[in-house]
Amino acid sequence: MISVKQARDIILGSIEALPQQIVYLEDALGRYLATDIVSNFDIPPCDNSAMDGYAVHCADVTEKGRLLKIAYELPAGSSPKGPFEKGASVKIMTGAPIPPGADAVIMREDTSEQAQYVTANKVPKIHQHIRFKGEDIKAGDTVLRKGSRIGPAQIGILASIRRILVPCHQRPVVAVLATGDEIADLDETLSQEKISSSNSYTLISLIREAGGIPLYLGVARDNRKDLAQKLSMAKKADLILTSGGVSMGDYDMVKDVMSQGGNSMEFWKVEMKPGRPLAFGTISNIPAIGLPGNPVSTMTSFYQFARPAVLKMMGAANLLLPVVCAKLVSEIKSKGDRPEYVRGMIEKKGPDLIVSPTGPQGSGILSSMARGNCFIVVSKDTTIVHEGDYIECEIFEGSW
Ligand code: AMP
Ligand code: MG
Repeated sequence: MISVKQARDIILGSIEALPQQIVYLEDALGRYLATDIVSNFDIPPCDNSAMDGYAVHCADVTEKGRLLKIAYELPAGSSPKGPFEKGASVKIMTGAPIPPGADAVIMREDTSEQAQYVTANKVPKIHQHIRFKGEDIKAGDTVLRKGSRIGPAQIGILASIRRILVPCHQRPVVAVLATGDEIADLDETLSQEKISSSNSYTLISLIREAGGIPLYLGVARDNRKDLAQKLSMAKKADLILTSGGVSMGDYDMVKDVMSQGGNSMEFWKVEMKPGRPLAFGTISNIPAIGLPGNPVSTMTSFYQFARPAVLKMMGAANLLLPVVCAKLVSEIKSKGDRPEYVRGMIEKKGPDLIVSPTGPQGSGILSSMARGNCFIVVSKDTTIVHEGDYIECEIFEGSW
């Protein structure tokens, strides 16, 4: 059986970033840059004041109590009237350009003003409270790297350097098909024999959270005809995700569909818990991941395989969940035959990050997933992790 890394490498090896697309700045949040971004501007564009106060020549204020004439006033957004004489000052507002010759700003709180004069109650240090031209960004600097995620700070930088049109990659359309004779969609009546299709809605949400565009195909019954008919609606998709129907049962038909006609199946089964039954191949030449049906297996496999695929299509440089080390609060036992992704809750306690399993770990127990924010990754061949041991955790709750 192949490892998680081998399986992910095969999947990622068979997909490419989607074509580039120019996106308006306001719509770029959550996209990934298709090129490096170079600034044509110095930010700030000129030396300016970081405080409301008085621009001075430091050499004039060698001791506190110095009385300085106010040569003129300089509000933000206006230009200096020119140099000012020795022994004088310019009353300046935050953001206004530093007048020629000034080499410090004394903040208002450290002064007292009386009729055209100001007393400096502190001796200024050279260059204090001046924001220098280009100290944040210099013209010619690469300010953002290709493949980086565009979050609010990146949007701010793009706005600062007047990049209204942002080069990104297209967002993938990801088809979602749930399968199962016992699976009822939200518009079907439930009975004792049926269960609600939670996977449809976790998958739609996971795709959205990763930045993809979900295309929901509903629930297919466990027969080739219905599967083929529903999958024929996926022709415009960039990626197909199915849930269920990839195990050993007589009615697990997704593998069959992948092995038929022009379709293909590259691998089936990955060494992991939960989520061993997983099929990857193509359906109508579209990459297709047959995710296992148990709700936690579906989600775990999505995070390990489908999320990286969606991110790669969007041009992201970083495809994996963030990993941190945390101190285990209670012992975990594992069979040691395959790596185990234990649902956990990580939190800060004093100087430590601590993590505890969130309860029953059956692959159908979605509530312990909902209580968690990370996977505690128990490596293969590990049969026990002791309380107090440090262990790697993959964070899946983005807002954590
Ligand atoms: P399967 O591999 O198709 O036998 O699915 C395994 C189990 O996953 C089923 O017995 C269901 O309990 C569960 N399951 C499959 N599909 C869904 C779904 N769409 N929503 C929630 N649970 C599901
Ligand atoms: Mg099934």
